[in-house]
Amino acid sequence: MILPPATLGMLGGGQLGRFFVSAAHEMGYKVWVLDPDPHSPAGMLADHHLVVAYEDYAALDALAAQCAAVTTEFENVPAATLDYLAKFVPVHPAASAVAVCQNRIAEKTFLAGHGLPHGPFAAIRDDDDIRAADGALFPAVLKVARFGYDGKGQARVADREQALAAFHQFKGEPCVLEKMLSLDGELSVVLARDEAGAVQCFPAAENRHRNGILDVTIAPAQVAAAVPAGLPAQAQAIAERIAGELGYVGTLGVEFFVCDGELVVNEMAPRPHNSGHHTIDACDVSQYEQQVRALCGLALARPRQHSVAVMVNLLGELWYADHKGHGAYREPDWSVLHAVPGLRLHLYSKHHARPGRKMGHFTVTGANAAQVLELALRARAAIGIDDE
Ligand code: ADP
Ligand code: MG
Repeated sequence: MILPPATLGMLGGGQLGRFFVSAAHEMGYKVWVLDPDPHSPAGMLADHHLVVAYEDYAALDALAAQCAAVTTEFENVPAATLDYLAKFVPVHPAASAVAVCQNRIAEKTFLAGHGLPHGPFAAIRDDDDIRAADGALFPAVLKVARFGYDGKGQARVADREQALAAFHQFKGEPCVLEKMLSLDGELSVVLARDEAGAVQCFPAAENRHRNGILDVTIAPAQVAAAVPAGLPAQAQAIAERIAGELGYVGTLGVEFFVCDGELVVNEMAPRPHNSGHHTIDACDVSQYEQQVRALCGLALARPRQHSVAVMVNLLGELWYADHKGHGAYREPDWSVLHAVPGLRLHLYSKHHARPGRKMGHFTVTGANAAQVLELALRARAAIGIDDE
C-alpha cells in the first residue's frame, strides 16, 4: 500500500491529469507530471512538472526514482515508455492494456476475440483492404487506428471510392472502417479495478455528442425512450468484463452505442473519462480519487451518486465573439453560469482557446432529473452555446 506523503507520477498533463493531481493532493500525496507542454493544465498544479517528451529516458529515470507508482491520463503515451518505467516502479494500467485501448485495430480485435458486442468493421492497412471490405459496411466511418480524439482523424464515407480518398488523405495510416450505425443513444461506464480484481462501477451515464465531441452527459443515464430499462446494468457488466480481460488496474472508461435497443461497445479509454467529470460533484467519491486508490493499492470506494447530474463541456469556440471561432477573442462571462443554482464551473486554465478544444465544463446537480437537465440546457444556451 502506498501511503501519503508518497509521490505519484502522472504521464500526461491535460484536464484529466489536473483532476487527478487535485484528488491526490487532497489525499496527501505529491504528484510529478510529465508532459511536453510547458502550460499543461496538470503540470501547473503538480509538485513538479517534467517538461519533456514521453521518450526522454533520462526524465523517465528521474520520474521512476521520485515516484512510488506511475499512471497515465493520456492513452497515447508510447507503450515503450510504460514498459520502461515498469522495470523500476509499479505502473498502472499496464502497457499491455493501454496498447489495446490506444489502437482501434487492436481494440476491435480484442472485442471480437472476447465475444464482446462491437459494430461491423474492417482493419485497413492498404488500398486492397478497402477493395476487399464487405460492401455492407457502407456508408461507413474511416478512423485512423491511432492518435484520433474528439472526432479527429475520422471521415464519413458513402462508398469505397470515398473510403480510398479518405485513406489517402490520412496518408495511408492504418485505419478501421466502421459501418455507420444508426444510434438510439450513447452510454458510458466508468469503473475502477484494483490489483486483486475487485471492481467498482459508477452508474452508467448518457452522452450526447456534437461534431464528434462530447457535449452533454446526463448521469445516471435516464431510462427513457432512448434507453431501454436494464441497459445501464448490462453496460456495467460488459465494462467489468472488459476490465477483467485486460487485467486492468486503475480507472477505465467504456463508451457504448445503443443500436436497435442493444449495446455495442464503441471504444475504451485507459484513464478517467470526460463523461465521468460529474463524479466530482455528484458522487461521494470521484473517478479521480478511485484512480489514486487503485494506483496506491488502497481499497476502492463503493461510489454512491447522491445527486442527479448534467455535465456540459465548454469548448474553445466560446472564447470568440461569434461563439464559433471567429471574431474578437475574450473570456466568456462566467457570472452568467455562477448565477445558476446547483451549478459548479470547472476551468482547466488552458493557455489558449482553439475551436473544439476542451477548456472547461460545468455540472448542474440536483434531486430531480428533468429539472436538472432543463437548468443545465438553459445555462448552456445562456453562456452562448447554440444548436445550429
Ligand atoms: P473519439 O475517439 O473521437 O471519441 P469515437 O469513435 O468515439 O472517437 O467517435 C466519436 C463520436 O462519433 C461517437 O461518440 C459517435 O457519436 C460518433 N460515431 C463514431 N463512430 C460511429 C459509428 N460507427 N456510427 C455512428 N456514429 C459514430
Ligand atoms: Mg469516443
